[in-house]
Amino acid sequence: MTDSPAAPSAPSSSDSRPVAVVTGASSGIGAATARTLAAQGYHVVLGARRVDRVAALAAEIGGTGRQLDVTDEDSVTAFVDGLDTVSVLVNNAGGAKGLDPVATADLDDWRWMWETNVIGTLRVTKALLPALEASGDGLIVTITSIAALEAYDNGAGYTSAKHAQGVLHRTLRFELLGKPIRLTEIAPGMVETDFSLVRFDGDQERADAVYQGLTPMVADDVAEVIGFVASRPPHVNLDLIVLKPRDQASARRNVKTG
Ligand code: NAP
Repeated sequence: MTDSPAAPSAPSSSDSRPVAVVTGASSGIGAATARTLAAQGYHVVLGARRVDRVAALAAEIGGTGRQLDVTDEDSVTAFVDGLDTVSVLVNNAGGAKGLDPVATADLDDWRWMWETNVIGTLRVTKALLPALEASGDGLIVTITSIAALEAYDNGAGYTSAKHAQGVLHRTLRFELLGKPIRLTEIAPGMVETDFSLVRFDGDQERADAVYQGLTPMVADDVAEVIGFVASRPPHVNLDLIVLKPRDQASARRNVKTG
């Protein structure tokens, strides 16, 4: 944290930098991506529910921090206000709740995962499509997961939500053909962030155990790939990038499980 002045609540009209919007930028992959894109010359608009965190990071990287709850229509409407031209949208807000078999599934956990990962991505993407098109070279990056590509025991709430989020994103790739908007799905395996802490409802010991005995990726590993995607020329569309730690071969197999 620096002692930079507070970030503005909107990009100023005299700021000639292209605008990049990152959802879920208060921690983990979203925060790292905001830093990477800012270093590449973007004015980054950061959104998350913990507005103090996005405001602090925005001040540090010369961006804009705004409160955002992707599950709330009014919040999304307020978040996109004044964003008329957007070059990059990173749909990152999301996560998992619980690790239960279908037989004992917690419906509230499922609703949280579907509302955040699926409907949240839909809401923000819909709201920013005109601004992405208006940029003349828009890019939508959606952070799904290897859970969008395979199923695993006790994970159906998350894997089904990530599959749905992936299909939403892949459908847009077809529907936007002919428009100046590129679409990239990023599907990471294990990344050490607050992801497991959120999944296990704040149980630090259980979260730490996920990453013990192997070397997971860190948020910067994913952010660097997003920076690479955003720096390709307009005619090149990286459709799907799957990245995993060397120690993980699939959602179900890693060096610990054998
Ligand atoms: P994280 O550190 O827990 O970050 C999740 C981010 O999502 C936070 O900034 C959180 O901010 C935000 N968020 C959650 N609910 C939100 C809501 N309703 N509205 C707005 N923002 C919301 O976890 P992460 O690993 O960086 O996760 C980022 C993305 O990567 C997620 O989509 C996750 O599913 C995906 N992913 C993670 C992994 C992994 O192993 N870590 C692997 C594959 C994919 P607030 O709480 O402040 O709102």
